[in-house]
This record gives sequence, C-alpha cells and structure tokens, in this order.
Amino acid sequence: MGRRKVPLEAALRKVDFSTARQASPVGSAEERPRLPAALFRELREQARLENRTYLMEHECKELLEGMGIATTGHLVAGSEDEAAEMAHRVGYPVVLKIVSPDVVHKSDSGGVRLNLHHSEEVRKAYREIVGGYRFQHVVGVAVQPMAVPGIEAIVGVTRDPNFGPVLMFGLGGIFVEVLKDVTFRVLPITDRDAEEMIREIKGYPLLKGHRGKSADLAALKSLLLRISALVVAFPEIRELDLNPVFLYEQGHTVVDARIFIGETTDAETAAPPAANLKKFFYPKSIAVLGASGSEGKLGYNVLWNLLNHGFKGRIYPINPKSAEIQGVKAYPAIAAVPDAVDVAIVIVPAEAAPAAIEECCAKGVRFIVVETAGFAETGEAGKRVQARLKEVIETHGCRILGPNCSGVLNTHHSMVQSIGLIGELGKGNLGLVAQAGVYAAGIITGLRNVMDFGIVATIGNKMDISETDILEFLGDDKHIDVIAMYMEDVTSGRRFVDVARSVTRKKPIIALKSGRTEAGKKAVSSHTASLAGNDEINSAAFRQSGIIRARDNEHLFGLMKAFAKQPLPQGDGILVVTYTGSLGVAATDTLYLNGLRLADLEPELKTRLQRIIPDYVTTLNPVDYSFSMEPGQLKQTIEIGLESADVSGFIAVIQGEILGSFVDVLKKIDTRGKPLVACVACKEFMMADVIRMERAGIPVYSTVEMAAEALAAMRRYRLYREEASK
Ligand code: ADP
Ligand code: MG
Repeated sequence: MGRRKVPLEAALRKVDFSTARQASPVGSAEERPRLPAALFRELREQARLENRTYLMEHECKELLEGMGIATTGHLVAGSEDEAAEMAHRVGYPVVLKIVSPDVVHKSDSGGVRLNLHHSEEVRKAYREIVGGYRFQHVVGVAVQPMAVPGIEAIVGVTRDPNFGPVLMFGLGGIFVEVLKDVTFRVLPITDRDAEEMIREIKGYPLLKGHRGKSADLAALKSLLLRISALVVAFPEIRELDLNPVFLYEQGHTVVDARIFIGETTDAETAAPPAANLKKFFYPKSIAVLGASGSEGKLGYNVLWNLLNHGFKGRIYPINPKSAEIQGVKAYPAIAAVPDAVDVAIVIVPAEAAPAAIEECCAKGVRFIVVETAGFAETGEAGKRVQARLKEVIETHGCRILGPNCSGVLNTHHSMVQSIGLIGELGKGNLGLVAQAGVYAAGIITGLRNVMDFGIVATIGNKMDISETDILEFLGDDKHIDVIAMYMEDVTSGRRFVDVARSVTRKKPIIALKSGRTEAGKKAVSSHTASLAGNDEINSAAFRQSGIIRARDNEHLFGLMKAFAKQPLPQGDGILVVTYTGSLGVAATDTLYLNGLRLADLEPELKTRLQRIIPDYVTTLNPVDYSFSMEPGQLKQTIEIGLESADVSGFIAVIQGEILGSFVDVLKKIDTRGKPLVACVACKEFMMADVIRMERAGIPVYSTVEMAAEALAAMRRYRLYREEASK
C-alpha cells in the first residue's frame, strides 16, 4: 500500500496554483473535455490492489486537473521537511490534510488544518496530524494553498435505481445542509440542462450577484458538463462529491473531492429497445391461449372483449378442451392454427406459461402478451418462471408484454385485450401507459364516460417491452395527441429520458409516478446520495424530458381531458365568466399563481359587454353575473371574448342545477382555437349533465382551481414546445 510516486517537481509543474487565488480561464462549454483515461485506470487499479472502493482526495484532484478542472492541487508530503518544502513552493497560507485510505471524512476526525502561515506552523500541524492518526494507515499529509473564499457550492453524482447516474448541484453550507437547496439531472446533461440546473436552485440570485459577490456562471456550466462527461466515460465511478467548490467572479476551484468506484450494474444494461411495434398495436390476427367459455374466467373476458369490440382481424381461441368457444372455432394448440398469428395472448396458469410461449415462438409469433399473474411479483418461485420466459424469448427473438398485465387496447383497431369486461368505447386521441392492468381496466370503465382513449397499454412486470418502448410508439402514432402514464418504476433509465424528450416536442406527456422512496434500500455513502431521495430524481428526470407531472390520480385525469379536448392557449390572458363572485376570485388567484392572468378587453369590446350584463355588475373580468347567468348570456360573453386579442382562453363557472341547459348552447360555439373549460361546483351530484357537457368536448371540473390549473399547464406546455423547437 502506498502513495503513487509523483515527483514534487512534476506535480508542481502540472498544477497551476494561481487558480486557487485568482481567476482561472475555464474553457468554453462546447469544447470537448479531455478525459484522462490512462490516469483513471491507474488510480482504479491502485484502489483495487488496496481493496479501496473510493479514491482519495489527492487522487480525485489529479484526475480533475487532468480534465482541466482547477483544484487546490494534489501534493502529498511524506515527511515534515517535505511538507515545509511544499508549503514554501505553493505559497502561504497553506492547508494540511490527512491522506489515509481509512479516513473518508477528514475534518470530522481533526484531519484538516487551515490557514497555516509559516513553516513552523506547517511542521507542527504535520506532527499533530500524523500523531492523531497513529492507529490508521497514513499515506502522508496533503499540502494545499489556502483557497481564497468564494461562494461555496457542491457538485455530486449518485446512482438512481431507475435512471442510473444523476448529477446534483447546489450551494454549500447551510443551503445544502439545512435547506436542501439542490437540483438533479439524469446524465449525460446537455448545455441547456446545465443552464437550467444553475438557474433552478433557490440560491440562484446569490450566484447571479448579491452584495458585490457573484459567480462565473459560464465556468460553472462548464464544470457541470465536464463532470457529466467524466462519469459517462467511466461507469466505474459510482458516486462523486466535490464538496466544497469555491465559486469566484472568474473561475472556481475544487477544494475537496471524493469518488466512489465499483462495478457497473443492471440499470445501465437495461433491455434493448423493442423493434417496430406496429404489428403489436395493429395486429391482423390474435390467438388467445387459455380462452374460455365459462363466464367469470379471465380467459372468457379477454375473448369476449375481442369479439364484442368488433376486432376486425382473425381471432383464434386456443383450448384443448373445446372445439368452439363463445361461438368461435377453437384450436387444440397454436400449432394447429392454419394461418400466421401476429399476437398471442397467454392466459394459462404461470407454471404452464413457458411451454405455451415456447409453442407460440415455434409457430413464429413475434409478440406475446402474458396476462397471467404469478410471476416475479409473487416471490422466488415466480421469479424463476419469469426468468425461464426470458430465456425462451431470447432464444427465439420474440417480444413479451407483461407478464401480469391487462394487454393492449386500441380503439382505432377495435381491439380490446383487457382482463376485465369493458363496455363500449369511443375512438379517441388519448394514449395511456399503465403499469398495473387492474388499474387501467378500472379507470377505463369509469373514464370512458368522459374521455375517449386511443391506445391503452398495460405493462405489468415489464420483463421485456417497457414503458419507454410504448412511449416511443405512441409518440409516432397518428391517432394519439396526448399521452398519460401511470408508473411505479422506470426500468429503461436514461433511454426513458431521451425518448420522452423527443416525444414531448410533438405531444404532451402527463405522468403520475408513485414516489415511493428507495432511499432506504441503497447504501448511502456520499453526501450526494443522501440528498437524492427517489422523488427528487423522478421530478428532475420528468423536468429534463418535458413531462408534465401529475400530483395524484385526480390531477392526472383533470389534465388528461383538458389536453385531449381543448387547444393550447396562445397567450396568458384568460376571461373568467361566473355566476358567483367568490369562485371568480378563487379562479383569479389560481390563474396568477400559475403564471396566467385576467385578460383585459379592448375598450370597444368592454362597451359591448356592458350592454349585455346587468347594471349591478361592475367588474368586466371576472364577468360576475351574480346568480343570474343564463346560457345565452354566457354565449354572448364568450363571443365577445373570442374577438379580443388579449383573451387566450375561458373559464366558465356554471350553476349545477341548470347545467343541462348550457350544453347545447356551448356545444355550438366555435371557440376558434381558444380553450374553454367549465367549473361546476359539486358536479358529482349532476353527473348526467356533466357527461353530456364532457361529450360536447368541454372539460368540467368541480373546482375553479383545477380549471385554472389545467389552462396553466396547457399554456406552459405550449411555451415549452415553442422553446424546445428553437
Ligand atoms: P472533509 O469534507 O473531508 O471534512 P474538506 O477537505 O472538505 O474535508 O475540508 C473541510 C473544510 O475546510 C472545507 O469545507 C473548506 O471549508 C475548508 N478547506 C479545506 N481545504 C481548503 C483549502 N485548500 N482552502 C480553503 N479552505 C479549505
Ligand atoms: Mg469536504
């Protein structure tokens, strides 16, 4: 065990100590960072020989210097004399720090001596440090220039079980310790990601300039990009902490660094993208293995759904016990089917599934939907059967959806594979990806009253086809305008972010992700990891890919229908028309809280509006009819708003008891690209009229807050899309 021998002269030559005290010109962000591959291999090898899972501070700094990142240097003295000599060379004041493979947190154990002004202080500090670690292995004592104080920042990398390596940035000291003012991005990051990270933390005003202090934002951005490049190039870097980095008006310097190394793991070797899924979503023929004629069985339901939703392709029930099922000719085995089969749905018991799938593969079926449960989700035995399925499909090169799912539904292909009986469905523009089959079946049964779905895919245990594969397909499918997702985890890591980012440039994705914390599961070694609760990473990944994150199911449904039924607002001015003043006020608050505002009508339109409203009405937005709003008045008010250049959307607050009388009137108005949403307080007590209104294409909310929020989300998405397409 020992310190890598870097001769003092060589080490001094490599390090430009001026960076610690003055500005260091840091290269532009566009410039490709140098990657010190040979040095990294050497350091990793040394650590391996010494059974270390991390690199010591001086090793990290040598690596960073090798990438052109300014640090306080990596000199390590092996004797008191050497320490004094080094201090003289780097220039006073200096800092001495313990260098030991046994000491990860140096100052906690008294291993850091700051601000030493002359050689006697250095010698004394050296003796004290070495003496204080008599029982540890001491490699030496680091000698560094005392960095000029700057704004303290922390830059780190940790690994997320869903998304792989993520970068963290925040301000140091109490900002990170107490306020947890940090932000994350999935690696690798783009220029724009780096800029957003810097702007996104609450402490950003301090970086931009406060009381005469500011930070070099271009250099900071370059640092984030270089760390991203470093970790992507060397996947053995598991975690990294630069804590602190001192940020200056010009440049910055890394004062402390720590890198944890290890083997690359599963998240980075996720399943490859599924090939073209067109035949999977639009098959010409479907076989149902385990189809049944007994009501109540899942095999009954699946076949019933296929038959009763009018699937136009060929349907082959497979069941050795019957010649005919639900009036359709059945086959004893898939091998007996005379024609080609595009998709096979498997509903046989889990133990029989591997053999059934083997037969499908032998028949040449490329896509298999396994709806049966009882696999990895149930425990060890189930995991083994699932592993067996994987072997089978890998041998034959076919793809599986599920197991433990509820198949796919595509109303544009009259195809419903669901395990629950589903009533009539309209053909719509909504795509939905759900993890749990029962969830999807359940919500569709209800939501079909007020929303029309296009494609719904349930992914279950997603041992093969993932949420990302489906997202990619829905992004290109011409019937789908809006995509909703309900997920418990994301297995395709980085690819999810890339695919989602390209899809959101075309159509909105609204996602609900349960934020169950994984923090307890992972070994938390670095500071960064301890700050990376699972949900922060989810939020970051969603933001990075332009996904709109829903808070809960209700929020998800509320956003889904607004996006699916109404156009995106062109500007931020909204006209609120209400039968009650209080809901007008509440709507106004929510609009302003969400970046929208009340529109201001042109003088001529104001005069016209005044003519139709009762004299006691004083404000012209919200237009408050005070308990006397008739359908005709609402129509005329909206028509005036349509003529205003400042009105980009409408909220109509309607009285529930007379809701029915508004439906036909509103249905006839051509809102010419301006979104209209309605609020009906206590709408759950007048569902029949609400359903009529929803069918007329006008989303109805029980609160004005949700109505205003929906418009705001649509406005934000429009801005995002415009910005992203630049
Ligand atoms: P650790 O995090 O292992 O306890 P650090 O190297 O981060 O040790 O040192 C602790 C603190 O001492 C730092 O947060 C920083 O404030 C200060 N410090 C360390 N090295 C220097 C240096 N070269 N110049 C100025 N301050 C330093
Ligand atoms: Mg530190």
